[in-house]
Amino acid sequence: MKAMLVFLGAFIFGICVFILIKNGVEKDMTPSNSGKETLKLFNVTTKSYEEIPKMHKSESKWKETLSSEQFHVTRQSGTERAFNNEYWDYKENGVYKCVTCGTDLFLSETKFDSKTGWPSFWQPVAPENIGYHEDNQFGMRRVEVHCARCDSHLGHIFEDGPPPTGKRFCINSASLKFEKTSVVPIKNTKFEKATFAGGCFWCMQPPFDQVKGVQQTWVGYTGGHQDNPTYEEVCDGTTGHTEAIEVVYDPSEVSYEELLEVFWQNIDPTTLNQQFADKGTQYRTGIFYHNEEQQRLAEESKSKLGQSGRYSKPLVTEITEASIFFRAEEYHQKYYQKAPQHYKNYKYGSGRASYLEKMWGDKVDFK
Ligand SMILES: [Zn+2]
Repeated sequence: MKAMLVFLGAFIFGICVFILIKNGVEKDMTPSNSGKETLKLFNVTTKSYEEIPKMHKSESKWKETLSSEQFHVTRQSGTERAFNNEYWDYKENGVYKCVTCGTDLFLSETKFDSKTGWPSFWQPVAPENIGYHEDNQFGMRRVEVHCARCDSHLGHIFEDGPPPTGKRFCINSASLKFEKTSVVPIKNTKFEKATFAGGCFWCMQPPFDQVKGVQQTWVGYTGGHQDNPTYEEVCDGTTGHTEAIEVVYDPSEVSYEELLEVFWQNIDPTTLNQQFADKGTQYRTGIFYHNEEQQRLAEESKSKLGQSGRYSKPLVTEITEASIFFRAEEYHQKYYQKAPQHYKNYKYGSGRASYLEKMWGDKVDFK
C-alpha cells in the first residue's frame, strides 16, 4: 500500500513538472512575451493613456484568428473592394477598433462620407495609436497607415479631408471592428502639445506630470540640426539640440498659460546656455511654440515676468518655433521614478532645488 502511494505521488509530481515545463516553453515561444517593448496608447473607455505591450505574432497565428480577407488586408497590405465592405456607409455611434489587436483607432464622430466607398475619418483617436509608412507600390507615392500596436495595415492617409484637420484616413473595413458605445465626447481626444527646455530634462518631468490635464510627457532633444541624436551626442554640445520636454495636454482641463507658469517656476531664466550646474547650449532654456497663439502667450508671459521685478537680470529664455522633437532613450523617461534617490541628489546637488525654493517659496513642489 505504501509503495503504491509513493508510486502515485511520484506520478502526480511527474505530471505537474511536465505541465510546468510545457507552459514555460509555450510562454517563451509566444513572441509577444519575448520582447519588452511597450507603447503608450490611448484608451477611449478610460479616456487615458495606458502602457500596452507591442504585439507580435507569426503569420500562422494571425491566420488562425482572421478571415482570409482580414488576413489579406491587415497582414499583406491588401485593399478590399470599394462600396462592397462592412463600414463604408455605416453610421452608428461608437469606436472603430483594430480587428487584430483591439486597439482603439477611430471614433464615429470623426467619420465622414468621402464618396470613395471606404470608411473615411479625419482624425484617429490619438496620434500615438497609429503608425505611418511611405508606400511606393503601383508607382504612386502614398502614406500607408497601420495600427501602432500590431502593425496591421489599415489603409492610407490623404491631404484632401474636411476641416478641422484636412486629413482623410481611408481605411479598409476589414481592418476594423466596430463597437457601439454611448456618446464619446470628442473634446477629450483633442490634445495639444507644448514643448519646453529647462536644463536637465530629468528635473522637468515631475512638475508637469503632476498637472491635472497633462496626459503624457516625454523627455528628448530639440532645436538642433542632427536627426535621431543620442544622449552622448547631445551632451557633447555639437548637435545644436537642447534637452527638452514634450507635454501632451487636454486644453479643456489645463490652459497653455498654466503650463507656462509651471515652466517659469521650475527654471532659472537668467542664465544663458547654462542651467544651474550644467553648462553648454544643450542646457539652454526655451519655449518652443506650436502655433501663433502659443507664441503670443509665451512672449506675453516672458515680458510680464521680466517686468515683475522678481529677477535682477534680464530673462534670456529663447522663444522659437517648435521643430522635430526626438524622444530620449527609454532610461531617461520618468527618471525621477526609475532612480528616485539619484534624481533627488541631483536636483539638490545641482543647486536647482534651493534656487527654486528661494525664488518661488511654497509654490514649488520639491518632489
Ligand atoms: Zn492592432
